[in-house]
Amino acid sequence: MSVIDEVKQKTDIASIVSQYVTLKKAGRNLVGLCPFHDERNPSFFVYPEQQSWHCFGCNTGGDAFSFIMKKEGLDFGETLRLLAQRAGVTIPSRAGRDEEKEEKERLYKINEAAARYFHNLLLNSSEGVKARNYFQGRGFTDKTASEFQLGYSSNKWDDLKKYLQEQGYTEDELVKAGLLVESESGRIYDRFRNKLMFPILDIKGHVIGFGARVLDDSQPKYVNSPQTP
Ligand SMILES: [Zn+2]
Repeated sequence: MSVIDEVKQKTDIASIVSQYVTLKKAGRNLVGLCPFHDERNPSFFVYPEQQSWHCFGCNTGGDAFSFIMKKEGLDFGETLRLLAQRAGVTIPSRAGRDEEKEEKERLYKINEAAARYFHNLLLNSSEGVKARNYFQGRGFTDKTASEFQLGYSSNKWDDLKKYLQEQGYTEDELVKAGLLVESESGRIYDRFRNKLMFPILDIKGHVIGFGARVLDDSQPKYVNSPQTP
C-alpha cells in the first residue's frame, strides 16, 4: 500500500472536519456551516461512508486531503505530511528511500556476481562437466548457455560463500540475497550445491534469484532462492 493510501485509510473525514466545523447528524451524514463561505443555514455536508464532503453553497467538495488543502492553504505534499503525522504513518524520508535503493542495487550485484560465478564453473571447471553434459543432452548449445547465463553450483559447502566474501560481500548480505542459508546450529553455508543454476531475471534484466535443478534423481528436483525484494 502506498503511503497516501495508508494515510487515507487511517484518516476519518468527520474528525478532520470537526476540528474546524461544528457538525450535526443528518441521517447517515453530518451537516454544518460551511467554512469556505458565509452562511446562516448549513449547506456543508460530510459523508462518512464515502469519506467525502460537499458544500451546496459553493458547490465544491472533495476528501480529507482537499479539505485540509483548501482550509489551511497547503499543497498536497504538506497536507500529506500533516495527515500522516496525525494518523501515525511514517513517510519514508528521501535518505531512507536512497538507502533502500542502494541496498536493492547491492542485492542485484550480489546475484549477478553469483550468476557469473556459476556460469564460469559450468563452462570452465572439471566439476562442471556433468552439468555441461546434462545441458548438451537437452539440446542447449554453448550459445544458449551463455545467453541465459546457465550455471553450475559446486558440491562444496562454501565455494560461493568464499568467492563472494572475497568480493567484499558480508555473510549477512549473502543470507539476505538467499544464496547462503543458516543451519539450526548456526552454520552458514551455500544454499545451492551440485545443481544446475538458472538465473531469474526481473523485467529490467536484474538477476533477482535463482532456480536450481538437481543433476540426478534426488529430491527435491527443483530449489528456488527466495527472490530478493
Ligand atoms: Zn460553502
